[in-house]
Amino acid sequence: MEAYVGNMVFLSGDAPMNSAGGPTSGTVTSYGSANSSVFGVTLWTANLTLSNMVGLTNNFFYENLNQQRVTLIHEFLHSYLKGASHESIANKLGLSGYNNASDAIDTWISNCYKN
Ligand SMILES: [Zn+2]
Repeated sequence: MEAYVGNMVFLSGDAPMNSAGGPTSGTVTSYGSANSSVFGVTLWTANLTLSNMVGLTNNFFYENLNQQRVTLIHEFLHSYLKGASHESIANKLGLSGYNNASDAIDTWISNCYKN
């Protein structure tokens, strides 16, 4: 399945993990099955940069709406900032003093809705 939001492309189910040209094999579904804590994954291009394509694993569809919102924005940040590492994204957001950069990004996104 494919869905489009602006320039972003969201893939799920049997969509190939190499849809953006990158080296990851298998389908979005098989990737999510092998990585149970992954809800979304920004796909690599052939040049090993991050693409505008995001795989939404089956795990994503078991998140509540607030969690899904955080996941979608989290993946958008990977794509928009071309940030492969969570540390690089957290640094660009001005975050510091965290134990887990991915969690810190998610907390930052969640807090955007509280203010
Ligand atoms: Zn991430």
